[in-house]
Amino acid sequence: MNRRSISVVIIFVIFVSLSSCTIDNKAIKPLSKDGFMLGTFVVINLYDQKDEKIIDEVFERLREIENRMSVNIEDSDISLVNKNAGIKPVKVHQDVYYVLKKAKYYSEISGGAFEPTIGPLVNLWGIGTGNERVPSEEEIRKSLIKVDFNKLHLLGNNEVFLDEKDMMIDLGGIAKGYAADEAKKILLDRGVKSAIIDLGGNIYALGSKPDGTPWRLGIQNPMISRSRNKVSHIGIFDGKNISVVTSGDYERYFEENGIRYHHIIDSKTGFPARNNVAGISVLSQDSIDGDALSTALFVLGLDEGLKLAEKIDGVDVIYITKDMKIYISSNLRGKFEITNEEFEMMTP
Ligand code: AMP
Ligand code: MG
Repeated sequence: MNRRSISVVIIFVIFVSLSSCTIDNKAIKPLSKDGFMLGTFVVINLYDQKDEKIIDEVFERLREIENRMSVNIEDSDISLVNKNAGIKPVKVHQDVYYVLKKAKYYSEISGGAFEPTIGPLVNLWGIGTGNERVPSEEEIRKSLIKVDFNKLHLLGNNEVFLDEKDMMIDLGGIAKGYAADEAKKILLDRGVKSAIIDLGGNIYALGSKPDGTPWRLGIQNPMISRSRNKVSHIGIFDGKNISVVTSGDYERYFEENGIRYHHIIDSKTGFPARNNVAGISVLSQDSIDGDALSTALFVLGLDEGLKLAEKIDGVDVIYITKDMKIYISSNLRGKFEITNEEFEMMTP
């Protein structure tokens, strides 16, 4: 996972989560802890518990997941699999194996739009590293041949093997979703009933607001770069026990000759996905599904993406296009309220 700057990570804003939660007009301050991990800015807010040990336990678990999955940590399981590409299988922790299984599944159902072996292209572009540049066609061609989820093998006994040398797994598009789910598990085990888990855009709204009413969840305006103090929503909806994950072209990018090169790569072209999507948000029960899908649906674009989303039970989506139109999946109709009149709701 590459590092993201703090100013651009919070894709979603939960109205109540970043400052206070109101019950009977009185602000309730959550027990809150934040930090930088999994390449992003993490905030955990507990609204009905005051035990700091619970939050510390969550942070420890997140660190453990990062240590197993990050490509930036030399001895992570993923780094070891990558180093042994074309050489030998590597036994990985169950966490990693589970995420890889999900990653393969989403590659398959999205026709490779979600591509866990995207690593060589992510490295080549270097977006978000400070060394980003537009590569030559030859470089892209050479990297593209190292990208193919069919050459990622999940063997028995938690062993993982990449067929060819220089292949590289990158779980940046799915690991935060898994981490959010694991954070949720800990909170539920500790009896928490009202909390917001925010992993830089992977939001899990646990339970309800402390007064029992649903969380009010806001979708960030993808046209406005964000700071923590300047929040702009395009719409809101109510939710309990729900994961909301967004992928957007405004999260990490650089611009050259008027073209925006962002961090979500189309494994068919080797270039950042080019389409009319500014942001795609996925609502689901488990955040791992929402995370993989947000990335996949960004690459697939509006038409194909909506079709795929409609086929998956328990998943809703909100697409925002660059021409400021909003497309939502059928189950969300009547539940999503536009709050910024510059945006227009469309019926696909
Ligand atoms: P997300 O912000 O969840 O959409 O994930 C983007 C991150 O996932 C990038 O920073 C890369 O680490 C990785 N990534 C980029 N393109 C893809 C892709 N097509 N499939 C899977 N992961 C990708
Ligand atoms: Mg994702």
